[in-house]
Amino acid sequence: VDEGAPRRIKALDQDVVNKIAAGEIIVAPVHALKELIENAVDAGSTVLEVLVRDGGLKLLQITDNGHGIDKEDLSILCERFTTSKLKKFEDLGNIATYGFRGEALASISHIAHLTVTTRTKNTDLAYRAHYDGGKLAPAKPGQSAEPGRTHGRPGTQITVEDLFYNVPTRRRAFRSPSDEFNKIIDMVGRYAIHCAGVGFSCKKYGDSGTTISIQATTSTIDRIRQIHGSNVANELIEFTASDDRWGFKASGWATNANYHIKKTTLLLFINHRSVESSNIKKAVEQTYSAFLPKNGHPFVYLSLEIDPQRVDVNVHPTKREVNFLNEDEIIQCICENIRDKLAAVDTSRTFMTQT
Ligand code: ADP
Ligand code: MG
Repeated sequence: VDEGAPRRIKALDQDVVNKIAAGEIIVAPVHALKELIENAVDAGSTVLEVLVRDGGLKLLQITDNGHGIDKEDLSILCERFTTSKLKKFEDLGNIATYGFRGEALASISHIAHLTVTTRTKNTDLAYRAHYDGGKLAPAKPGQSAEPGRTHGRPGTQITVEDLFYNVPTRRRAFRSPSDEFNKIIDMVGRYAIHCAGVGFSCKKYGDSGTTISIQATTSTIDRIRQIHGSNVANELIEFTASDDRWGFKASGWATNANYHIKKTTLLLFINHRSVESSNIKKAVEQTYSAFLPKNGHPFVYLSLEIDPQRVDVNVHPTKREVNFLNEDEIIQCICENIRDKLAAVDTSRTFMTQT
C-alpha cells in the first residue's frame, strides 16, 4: 500500500445520508414532536392530542382533526423533500405554513417505526400505513406494505415508536425519560399558548389524567394561567409594536414589575414557529433590569410576525433559528413598548401606595 496516495472518494449510501440528515433534524424526541405539532396546525386542526411514553423514546403519538392526507399521497408521504407546502425556491419568501421542506416525516421514518392513520373529510374510510426508511413497509414481515383500510375520525394520527432504535449511540445518550418528557411538556405548552382557537392535550402513557388540557375556546391569558399558574397570569401586561419600515408586527404578554423569577421565561414565536433568540432574550432582560430587583427575571410571551420576504428561514433544517433584516431596530422597537408599559404600571402602583 502506498502510504502517500490519496484515499479514494466514494458516495455514501443513500440510507446513510438519510440517517445522518435525520439525526441532525431530530436530536431529541421533542424535535420530532415539534414537527408533528406544526404539521397538525398546518393541516387546520382545532384539536390536538399528544400521548407520550418513556419521554417519547418508546411512543410519541399525535392525533389531530385536520384535513387529512389523500390516500394517493401515502406512498410518497415519507420520502425526503416531498411536501404540499413549497413548489419552487422563490416560494420560500412567501411561505406561511410551519413546515416547508418535506423532511420531518422522512427523517422520523429513518430513525423510528412510523405509523400514519388518516382520513380526509370527503370519505368514510380511513387508511393506515407503516413506514421504514422513507418507504411504505409492512406492519409485520410477510404482510403487504400497501396502506390498509380502517376506521377512524377525520384527521390524522401519527404514531412514532422506538425513536433512535437504529442509532444506538443516540439512544444511549438519553439517561432520563422524565427530562425528555419535561421538554415535551414545555414545547406543547408553548404551542398551546400561541395557537389561539386550537385545543391541546398532552398525556403520559398510563396516567389517568392529562398533564396539559386546553380547550379550543380558552383565551390566551387563561392558557398562560393553566400552564404557568395564576402568579404569572395575574401580573401580565399586554403589549404590541409594529413598524412598516421594518416589515413587522409584534404582540404578546409580559409580567409587570410586581413579578419576578430566577430565570427568564421567553416564549418566542417568529411567524408562528417556536424559535430561540439569544439577542431578543438579552434585550428583554436588559429592559427589565431597570424594573426588577437584581437577579429577578420576567415571563414574556412574544409573537413576532415579519414579512416573509425579510426572513431567512433556511439557515438550518431544524428551523430553530431564523435570520431577519433590521433585527436590532425591531428588537429595540418591541423593548421600548414593553418599557413604556412597565413604567406606566410602575407609576400607577407608586401612586396608589402613596395615597
Ligand atoms: P413539510 O411539513 O415540510 O411539508 P413533512 O415531512 O413534515 O414536510 O410533511 C410532509 C407532508 O405530509 C406535508 O406537506 C403535508 O402535506 C403532509 N402532512 C404531514 N402531517 C400531516 C397532518 N397531520 N395532516 C395532514 N397532512 C399532513
Ligand atoms: Mg412539517
